[in-house]
Amino acid sequence: MKNLIIALLLVPAARAAEPIKLRVYHTNDVHGWIMPRPDKFQTNRLVGGAAALAALIAKDTGPKLVLDAGDWWQGTPEGSLTKGEAVADVFNAIGYDAVVIGNHEYDDGADSLKTLIGKIKVPVLSANTYGADGKLVPWVRASIVKEIAGVKVGIFGLTTTNMRRLAFPKNIAGLDFRREVDVAREQVKALKRQGATVIIAVTHIGLENEHSKHEGDQTLAREVPGIDLIVGGHSHTFLSRPVQGRTEP
Ligand SMILES: [Zn+2]
Repeated sequence: MKNLIIALLLVPAARAAEPIKLRVYHTNDVHGWIMPRPDKFQTNRLVGGAAALAALIAKDTGPKLVLDAGDWWQGTPEGSLTKGEAVADVFNAIGYDAVVIGNHEYDDGADSLKTLIGKIKVPVLSANTYGADGKLVPWVRASIVKEIAGVKVGIFGLTTTNMRRLAFPKNIAGLDFRREVDVAREQVKALKRQGATVIIAVTHIGLENEHSKHEGDQTLAREVPGIDLIVGGHSHTFLSRPVQGRTEP
């Protein structure tokens, strides 16, 4: 696995005396790397891979979430030759709670993506992918609400609006990727209405830097109040610790 990061959220519990520790396991930009590979410094030792990830997650019997922030399959023979099905099998076997559509999910066209989504048995999110009819495309979900240890957690997904520069026009014909910040505001409201007291954005929009021309996770954190955690992908930025928002202590 390219990037597995674990975030820990302390969430207020309605009934328990102590806050609940919710462990959030997340991957992003896996790009088909489901097999272990040689360690950089000790090449006779294999590290990573979906089997190791599955074992790690299975060991944790506490409150947890498992999320993926997009760019699932493009990049290895097993990813590309199966048009993503090998990675879909991993999502299903591990039992991810939700996965988000990245730009590379369109590399084989939207029809191929729809077929792949049909094989993914966990919720596939992208709250800003609209069709020519002005509605959210029917093959994705905007969000889910999960009750974990008595706490309602709302999770919504976003795909980068930069798609026009990142995908062949025929692969995204008729699709409209709406501005991330606007959609995120709507999602926070909608999830609160559904009773969510913790809100997680799973995004494939990138962690922008001073040279970026697009709005990424930092803009999202700054502009959209009410998001407790952003699980991001796309820019392949390794964060050994989370970037804290301005409102955090
Ligand atoms: Zn990407």
